[in-house]
Amino acid sequence: MASDLVDPFGRVIKDLRVSVTDRCNFRCTYCMPAEGMQWLPRSEVMTFEEIERLARLFVERYGVEGIRLTGGEPTVRAHLSVLVAKLARLGVDLALTTNGATFRLLAHELREAGLRRVNISLDTLDREKFERMTRRDELVRVLDGIDAAIEAGFDPVKINAVVERGVNDDEIVDLARFGRDRGVEVRFIEFMPLDATGHWMSDAVVSQDEIVAAIHEVFPIELLPVRGAAPADRWRYLDGRGTVGVIPTVTKPFCGDCDRVRLTAEGQLRTCLFATDEFDLLRAMRSGESDDQLAERIERAVGTKWAGHNINQVTFVRPKRSMSQIGG
Ligand code: SAM
Ligand code: SF4
Repeated sequence: MASDLVDPFGRVIKDLRVSVTDRCNFRCTYCMPAEGMQWLPRSEVMTFEEIERLARLFVERYGVEGIRLTGGEPTVRAHLSVLVAKLARLGVDLALTTNGATFRLLAHELREAGLRRVNISLDTLDREKFERMTRRDELVRVLDGIDAAIEAGFDPVKINAVVERGVNDDEIVDLARFGRDRGVEVRFIEFMPLDATGHWMSDAVVSQDEIVAAIHEVFPIELLPVRGAAPADRWRYLDGRGTVGVIPTVTKPFCGDCDRVRLTAEGQLRTCLFATDEFDLLRAMRSGESDDQLAERIERAVGTKWAGHNINQVTFVRPKRSMSQIGG
């Protein structure tokens, strides 16, 4: 019988994000530097068995309901479908976040293994801009990856678009139109200070209000009630052509409803995207700790979960890790 994993502010943890690798085939400017990323040696990355063990603990002992696989780029991890099949057997709501570049090759296999939901990142529809933003000329393959996800029957397929002022904010309406035309929900994400290169400035953040106003002017929308613990506020198009979301981490933090913890590829438990502390579950597992001992560590970690991040305050300290090392 599962018992709730509750933090000091009464929030019940229901969602686990697992980074399956720190490696990536892209170098998005808002996420990591062009060069100089030091990848973890293979021996320091959790094996599928280790991920499964921790996932099982979260699900069976604490009633965690959702697991999202992320990275780095999760699809660069060999035999990802083997992990998906293991986790699907836990009976959780299993999802994946990917840059989509190789999704055509994997969609069917992952669907068969039990993956149901996928988010694909797409920040621009312009090929040159795509290359500038991701440092890879892969727009065509990503668009094909989105088609492959729809064809393979993933439901829902969502698009994640980080909006950066002066870079792609002129494409908000075009991206919204793309989502309407393909029947997928676009979720715009406010640019967060996790770019590792330090080029984030608050001026570069395009706020949820600005994003919504730009869409509403062309495609009228109305707010859907109840966000719950999901990070995105959602709107429906008044003409019935689907929904659109915005994740307002910077301008309207939703920390009060946060039900999430994260595991990095090297098995460090993080209780917030912006946390500066980590709890080493991998070393604990490898030193032979029992499930009860691991559970104690997990509870201790969750006991340190902050009320919320303080991006907008002078006391804000950027985590040493980039978004690619935390897992988005
Ligand atoms: N590689 C996969 C991908 O790009 O979808 C998964 C990992 S990526 C770190 C997860 C999500 O974080 C992506 O949607 C990405 O756009 C987003 N992201 C990365 N850096 C960000 C930043 N500085 N601010 C906001 N979102 C960011
Ligand atoms: Fe890689 Fe995803 Fe980061 Fe882009 S956002 S560099 S695809 S991990």
